[in-house]
Amino acid sequence: MIQLNDLYFEEYISDKQINQSANEVAVKINNDFKDKNPVFLVVLNGAFFFAADIIKRFTGNCELSFIKVASYDGINQSNEITTVMGAEPDLKGREVIIVEDIVDSGNTIEAIIKILKQEQVANYKITTMFYKPKAYSKLFPIDYVGMEIENDFIVGYGLDYKGLGRNLRNVYKLISNKKMKNIVLFGPPGAGKGTQAQMLKNKYNLVHISTGDVFRFNIKNKTELGMLAKSFMDKGDLVPDEVTINMLKNEVEKYPDANGFIFDGFPRTISQAKALDEFLSEKDQKISAMVALEVPEDLLVQRLLNRGKTSGRPDDQDESKIRNRFNEYQTKTAILKDYYQAQNKYYGVNGVGSIEEITQRLSEVFDRF
Ligand code: AMP
Repeated sequence: MIQLNDLYFEEYISDKQINQSANEVAVKINNDFKDKNPVFLVVLNGAFFFAADIIKRFTGNCELSFIKVASYDGINQSNEITTVMGAEPDLKGREVIIVEDIVDSGNTIEAIIKILKQEQVANYKITTMFYKPKAYSKLFPIDYVGMEIENDFIVGYGLDYKGLGRNLRNVYKLISNKKMKNIVLFGPPGAGKGTQAQMLKNKYNLVHISTGDVFRFNIKNKTELGMLAKSFMDKGDLVPDEVTINMLKNEVEKYPDANGFIFDGFPRTISQAKALDEFLSEKDQKISAMVALEVPEDLLVQRLLNRGKTSGRPDDQDESKIRNRFNEYQTKTAILKDYYQAQNKYYGVNGVGSIEEITQRLSEVFDRF
């Protein structure tokens, strides 16, 4: 096992197997191109090992060019492709062999092919040392493949994780962290998120983070964060994203050994949801599900006014503040349903009934993860 930055990897493919596959590809390319004076277009940075292995076995004339595009952000493939360094020399009318280290979703290849078409190349072929058929979502054929691999994150033989690992001769794959159960408990103010979170955190041994509770704790203790949040909370407005996101991250970091989290009252805006996804993915974790308590608004107002008689919360005691909280919910928060639905992670649960009945309904969803 090796460690690169904050992650651990185990040996996956030996340099002997890699050499053998590189050799087989080199033989094929040599046969097909030795009389065609091709340009090897090497995709930086990762393909430099593979490119050297096939080009040094090429017996005809050839030229060499490099292109650099960025698509990986840590261990997650992002859809945004940017050209960092363009291809030279002039590729117009040339036979081009694109040399990749790994073909994953195919986004990088797609971007490069687009560039080659603009350059009006005569013909292009694609070769890659590693190919992930289960991740590939494009139609372009990959002409010369060294090895097909599973959908694992790998390093070595030119490939890196946050800059490290390119020099390794063997290929290593990421050892997955234990998977957490991370649930966003969702619903409008008064839906019963806090009550249900208390039941579920014990049942599933999860950490419950209520951003509202953390703010109230800070207000009570007159911290700087509390003073800042109070002015927004008293009116029923949302606290600004930056403040809330940083606070949430700090809370999560307090529990490095957690089995998972119940997020209650967070995220409440799209940018909070995106920040949460990014934050969890840096830890090789993700949101398992958004579980939403669905309750009609009239019932909610009544529940909040009743709660205000005992909770002491200023934002529960005045109908205009309550209406403002609903307004914030409708305009900024409700759309999060679409955000999680698009990822097939939204689960609506009827939030009308006894506490036990609702816990039972929520548990049926929690049990799936
Ligand atoms: P809650 O206890 O979840 O009803 O939250 C009470 C108040 O805390 C909200 O009305 C907001 O002013 C503030 N708050 C709690 N969570 C967030 C969040 N994720 N983003 C912004 N403001 C929040």
